[in-house]
Amino acid sequence: MRDHVKLFIPGPVEVSPDTYAAMSAPMIGHRSKDFQNLYADIQSKLQTLFGTKQQVYVSTSSAWGIMEGSLRNLVKKKVLNCCCGAFSDKWFDVSKRCGKDAAELKVEWGQPITAALIAEKLATGEFDALTLVHNETSTGVLSPLEEIAALKKKFPDVMFIVDTVSSFTTVPVNFDALGIDVLLTGSQKAFAMPPGMALFAASDAAYARAATIADRGYYFDFIEFKKNGETSMTPSTPCIALIYGLRHQLNKMLDEGLDNRYARHARLNAMVHAWVKKHNFEFFAPNGFRSKALTCVKNNKGDAFDVANFVSTLKKRHNLAIDGGYGKIKGKTFRISNMGDETEATMAELIAALDDTIATM
Ligand SMILES: *Cc1c(COP(=O)(O)O)cnc(C)c1O
Repeated sequence: MRDHVKLFIPGPVEVSPDTYAAMSAPMIGHRSKDFQNLYADIQSKLQTLFGTKQQVYVSTSSAWGIMEGSLRNLVKKKVLNCCCGAFSDKWFDVSKRCGKDAAELKVEWGQPITAALIAEKLATGEFDALTLVHNETSTGVLSPLEEIAALKKKFPDVMFIVDTVSSFTTVPVNFDALGIDVLLTGSQKAFAMPPGMALFAASDAAYARAATIADRGYYFDFIEFKKNGETSMTPSTPCIALIYGLRHQLNKMLDEGLDNRYARHARLNAMVHAWVKKHNFEFFAPNGFRSKALTCVKNNKGDAFDVANFVSTLKKRHNLAIDGGYGKIKGKTFRISNMGDETEATMAELIAALDDTIATM
């Protein structure tokens, strides 16, 4: 049996030994030429990954730092929080905690956010920003980002803030082509790195808006990021070990090829889908809106299938962790990740273990 519990939960996911090894390079000063070289090296790779000519920033925080920062930098009038699950719902809570005027666009958990729903709300003229979670990790729903982003042309004064924490690098997301204002993600999902680092890009319109907002703070000030980024530096001392890990993961991604990477995630996701069908489970997300990063399985067997027992038996017998459902859908669903460095072989191993565990129940 493996020496540690391998994570197939939708974040954090398993970190490969080569990534840990890359992270343990000797420390360097964050105002040194060595750091600037490291930063410049990852910068061009991040721009390729984000599909952008804008700067891409590294923030020493989990994704929520930049999520909160986006609100503090960009919301002046009122923000529309598109809510369809635990993470997107939380955006509304955080907007209010930041003292922002906010409203929810709410659909039932398991349903996607559509462009038509957003267009109707924005047409009121009340809003100068919106938040959207591309891949709602709690429900496994992928909302139609391209259609939603197309609304930016009709509502140019609305800041489109998009959380791609659990979709980024599993499907193509091109910042410049989408024309959105903030694209943010985190290290512990498909990047397959330890938690603690967020990555983001912002539009010219976003910097212009931020410049008009007085109380945007310091640590997450987009304009500080931009100013420092221009000399290949960060506003404060960053998590340099994680940046070493990022450089390593970026090299792996570009060596694999981005299209190959997206195709691999689709194939591994399809393996989980086949397992779901084989055992006559259902999907929590509707057809056409299912994540390629994880699968949220609907427990359609009710009391006849004890999700908590399934999860704990899998862990005991195989040292593998899946998730027993998030928040109010705990026990009614369970989630299996296929993000990061996984391969057909490692997913086949997981699936065999899932089969073995079911057979004992
Ligand atoms: C994991 C996740 C987050 C949370 O990020 P932290 O790293 O915990 O700050 C935010 N949004 C989505 C969609 C996520 O999946």
